[in-house]
Amino acid sequence: MADALYMEDSYLREWDAKVVSTKGKYVVLDRTAFFPRGGGVEFDTGTIGRNADEFRVVFTGKFDGDISHEVDREGLAAGDSVRCALDWERRYLLMRHHTAAHVLSGIFHNEFGLKITGNNLTPEKGRIDFDMETMDMPLIERGFARAAELVGQNLPVRVYSLSREEAMAKKELFKLAIGFPHDIPVLRIVEIVGFDAQADGGCHVRSLAEIGKIVLAGTDNKGKSNRRVLFRLE
Ligand SMILES: [Zn+2]
Repeated sequence: MADALYMEDSYLREWDAKVVSTKGKYVVLDRTAFFPRGGGVEFDTGTIGRNADEFRVVFTGKFDGDISHEVDREGLAAGDSVRCALDWERRYLLMRHHTAAHVLSGIFHNEFGLKITGNNLTPEKGRIDFDMETMDMPLIERGFARAAELVGQNLPVRVYSLSREEAMAKKELFKLAIGFPHDIPVLRIVEIVGFDAQADGGCHVRSLAEIGKIVLAGTDNKGKSNRRVLFRLE
């Protein structure tokens, strides 16, 4: 399993790596900051350069435990030394949307008692699904007002590790009803200091002011008690 550099430093944009293996246009590196699509968050794109030869990363996913980079053409080979770079604008938008989603789901879950059932985050917008009998618009608007208050306080975001045992003792770390990941000995925790913490493998901004303004962009009913909220950033 390659080193997932984005777990240590979400702001790392360029790094050196070695090609471990290739299969057609699919490339595995020994270390990578390309985030693979997962947990409702879209993937990173960017470039893998071998000397002056540049390959575009058009998709990043996780397959059989490996982070796999799909490039625009074949040609890279195992053992190649490469220089990688993220499309930073896209990644930074994903980070802002992801942290914003933690703010909103923290409010809906911790303060309003709603169960989060899913989410999807792209560079353009965010979506959060939660369990609620009927759409309560005043409550949702209150949630966005509360989010603005938290962003206004510019709370710091901290990332650290907890052992499985330590994490299991804190039920609040697991908001999504996906069950506890039994095979992982150490969990990565993303904490909005003074507000919320959860087990998470994604990329986040360092403090809430970086998110900007979180704007309610729509709501939708998805099934019997599934409510959907869409947001965008300004
Ligand atoms: Zn997350």
